[in-house]
Amino acid sequence: MTATPYETAWGALGEPWAVAVETTPLPDLKLAHVSETLAATLSLPGLAAGSPALRAVMAGAQPLPGAQPVATVYAGHQFGQFVPQLGDGRAHLIGVHTDAAGARHELQLKGSGPTPFSRFADGRAVLRSSLREYVASEALHALGVPTTRALALGVSSEPVRRERMERAATVLRVAPSFLRFGHFEYWAYRGQLQQLRQLADWAIANWFPQFEGRYADWLGDIIDRTADLIVHWQTLGFCHGVMNTDNMSLLGLTLDYGPYGFLDAYDPGHICNHSDEAGRYAYDQQPHVAHWNCARLLEACLSLLDPDQDRALTTARALLERFPTRFRATAGRAWRTKFGLGEHRDDDDTLMNGFLDLLARGRHDFTTCFRALPDPDRLHDLILDQAALDTWYRQYRDRRDDERADTVAREALQRSANPARVPRNHLLQLAITAAEQDDFAPLSRLMDALSAPYQDADEFADLADLPPAWAAALSVSCSS
Ligand code: AMP
Ligand code: MG
Repeated sequence: MTATPYETAWGALGEPWAVAVETTPLPDLKLAHVSETLAATLSLPGLAAGSPALRAVMAGAQPLPGAQPVATVYAGHQFGQFVPQLGDGRAHLIGVHTDAAGARHELQLKGSGPTPFSRFADGRAVLRSSLREYVASEALHALGVPTTRALALGVSSEPVRRERMERAATVLRVAPSFLRFGHFEYWAYRGQLQQLRQLADWAIANWFPQFEGRYADWLGDIIDRTADLIVHWQTLGFCHGVMNTDNMSLLGLTLDYGPYGFLDAYDPGHICNHSDEAGRYAYDQQPHVAHWNCARLLEACLSLLDPDQDRALTTARALLERFPTRFRATAGRAWRTKFGLGEHRDDDDTLMNGFLDLLARGRHDFTTCFRALPDPDRLHDLILDQAALDTWYRQYRDRRDDERADTVAREALQRSANPARVPRNHLLQLAITAAEQDDFAPLSRLMDALSAPYQDADEFADLADLPPAWAAALSVSCSS
């Protein structure tokens, strides 16, 4: 072990991009859960799962040796409106850890107290939203979706006021970088183009070294990653809920889980966030919004593309065109895998949309029906309009079997793209209700069930069930 196992995050930049600020300790912190697999992969020096040191760090009561906690400044388009200054208002980058393989991991404690970017808020996060973020971070990772990770969830006795009094909690988030589109929008809006360029050069040197000095190719790569990420979301029925540009990761990771949701009954216009009255971030809007957000990033980075404004705009327009092209190609492959179709054929979209139409008309469960796709008898139990199902299934079977793929291999491939279990709102709610009473067993069981979501598991059959009637009354909002 080196003398200083941790480094200060953003240390090479420092102020004004990131400012030093201490965390504010929380009383009586309990470790509600630690992700053992992530802890084992990272093997953070001095922070073994369940150790008093990890508990003290989670409580915001102890900095990491060698690292100064910092908060970064960013801006962002929130529900379409530009907000010139945001930032880490309730999260501290507490340090960077370099693992045995040489990979760097930023450690960010969320809910750790106010920073210069808290505006008028308290710098805290409640148990409800922290548990939701914790579970989803690890669940999406297990589903194969690029995401920030979460190492531990801590819960304190400190009361926090939201719509009602709740308990304060912290999540230790881990990612190669928490850089957001909004970090670039901040400097561009202020016309501080030198700072913008320094930030870009630093980001490229650390996370995109292959694009050194090639800003257009670098931005193109970010656009590709973003398109690929949204394909993961769409094909799993994941709705982010708050796709503001400050919640868009530069690395194409799922970032800032708030009022997210997985589709239960299939409704393309599903809005998971109760606060999103206009449905700006509805399920079927996500690809369009991601494209729009990429346009905002390109706008912010225009000065990097060319000193001549017109030439910069021409390059930016061409880059923006990459999004729909990339999205169509990746999405086509991903949806076909769910249906067990290997080759691309002209009528595939019609065929696949036929199934989605069946689901939408009957409001049938997205996850369950896709998992049942290879088994027509099972689908018969799930889908009400049996005549329509039979007609569709005949066409599907003909098209599918025409490829003469090995049935066992095809069904295995389909299972690898159609999970048995996802973190549905009602499952999260059950874990939250118990955790609020200091019972972390349901959370622990949920984490176990979601760690291998593509495997059938009898012991978790109840967690793969259709949502109960009371789930319809659950409402998830921006408040967290
Ligand atoms: P979010 O909606 O969580 O992505 O946050 C949007 C902005 O508000 C970010 O700059 C956050 O840091 C800030 N923010 C949200 N909640 C709080 C809070 N309780 N205390 C301080 N800042 C917050
Ligand atoms: Mg955010």
